[in-house]
Amino acid sequence: MTAVSGLHEVTIPAFPPERLAPVLGAERVAYFTEVADDLQHQLGRPAIWNVSSTAQGGGVAEMLRALLGWARGVGVSARWLVIPGPPEFFAVTKRVHNNIYGFAGDGGELGTTERALYEATLAPSAQELRAVVRAGDVVVLHDPQTAGLVDAVHELGATALWRCHIGIDHPNHFSATGWAFLEPYLRQVDRVVVTLPAFAPPWLAPDQVSAIPPSIDPFSPKNHYLSPEQVRAILVHTGVVQGAPDATSLPTFTRTDGSPDRVDRCVDALQAGPPAPVDAPLVAQISRWDHAKDMGGVMRSFAELVAPHTPAHLLLAGPAVAGVADDPEARAVLLACMQQWSELPDWIRARVHLACLPMADIDENAAIVNAIQRHATVITQKSLAEGFGLTVAEAMWKGRPVVASAVGGIQAQIVDGTSGILLDDPRDLGAFGAALRRVLDDPALADQLGRGAEQRVREKFLGDTHLELWVTTLLALLGPGAEPATS
Ligand code: UDP
Repeated sequence: MTAVSGLHEVTIPAFPPERLAPVLGAERVAYFTEVADDLQHQLGRPAIWNVSSTAQGGGVAEMLRALLGWARGVGVSARWLVIPGPPEFFAVTKRVHNNIYGFAGDGGELGTTERALYEATLAPSAQELRAVVRAGDVVVLHDPQTAGLVDAVHELGATALWRCHIGIDHPNHFSATGWAFLEPYLRQVDRVVVTLPAFAPPWLAPDQVSAIPPSIDPFSPKNHYLSPEQVRAILVHTGVVQGAPDATSLPTFTRTDGSPDRVDRCVDALQAGPPAPVDAPLVAQISRWDHAKDMGGVMRSFAELVAPHTPAHLLLAGPAVAGVADDPEARAVLLACMQQWSELPDWIRARVHLACLPMADIDENAAIVNAIQRHATVITQKSLAEGFGLTVAEAMWKGRPVVASAVGGIQAQIVDGTSGILLDDPRDLGAFGAALRRVLDDPALADQLGRGAEQRVREKFLGDTHLELWVTTLLALLGPGAEPATS
């Protein structure tokens, strides 16, 4: 990353569109390139700035890295800035985030003190934007952390979009509080982009909002093909599974820039005894340590309903907690999981593994996640709320059967019974355990769901479809036939 001062610019390599041909077919790639040319031609090649609060950890960073790489590959001047902020700022924005998801979060206030802190933190970033953003540029602000920059973007003569990656299926009083905090900043925004139509802030007219689901990158270190030998070598080397090292395979992967490398670091695991044997059925959930991901619920359901009836092991994996700058809750959630784990009966505890994945090298981290997703017998995402849930699309792309809650964007991804299993009530531990057993006990069903899953992602959630939706949105807003901006 290059420091602009407090703001940092993330370096994004351009991915040539031809790389997508083996996955999408030449025709789909040609169409995608034409659509991008059309955007450039009609808008006069503006810089498209993305502003977020972290370059690593979590879905937003994961998605931007790929999407902007593909956009740059077709000539779009897509750039990415990361704002700084002290822990108190991220405590406030996490509160807004939790509220919008319908949770109390840490229960703290969102009053004048919090607003003053929020605005004071963003003020230097607003100043620094002057040095880089020009009139006519487009600035896409991501999530609550950056919503307060809308006015600064307008003062520079640029277009301001706010991309919200979170939302709630059924608004409640917490979500109203979260939205009320953001409303003053978003009143003048040129367009809000949400993941699902239902996630739109309640005070916006439908024509001020576009719904664009995210995508995954089939060539990123997170998703690119790994042979079964590479998967095994990575998982044995990092200590995720136990097996004799195979002298003929090395824990290798391909970096974002296309260079080959090896996984060096190991996971930091909490387990009673050795890791899961390489040939044992493995149920895995990979998530940030966030209460909305309900790692504790997965553990409870597995311990009570799955472990007594199957030989399966459970792996709950998340980032090393020091590695995610804008997530102040992670440590507390991890500690709660560790406490719950320590109270399990000995024989079950030996089959439940908590792992913190090294975050020092983001490509290496991605390769470890990739290997876990490819190795797991079943992937779960038992979220209580979810924006999109990239972990679901990632596992589906790898042909894994996924058992997940029917919340937020997960509902748009999985067609129940065809491309995974959806649970109506995310808190129903009995139904969750039963679904896991159904898939563990029936390899033919697991295979069928995995095939349906891969197909679904190929059709709906790859980068070309995603970029086309952005092009449509930007042309509707700024193209020749667009209504004049309100700002
Ligand atoms: N992730 C990761 N390392 C980890 C845990 C998660 O790279 O240790 C990634 C995961 O693979 C996915 C993203 O973080 O790409 C999480 O995105 P998702 O949309 O599932 O949830 P969010 O974190 O945005 O709530």
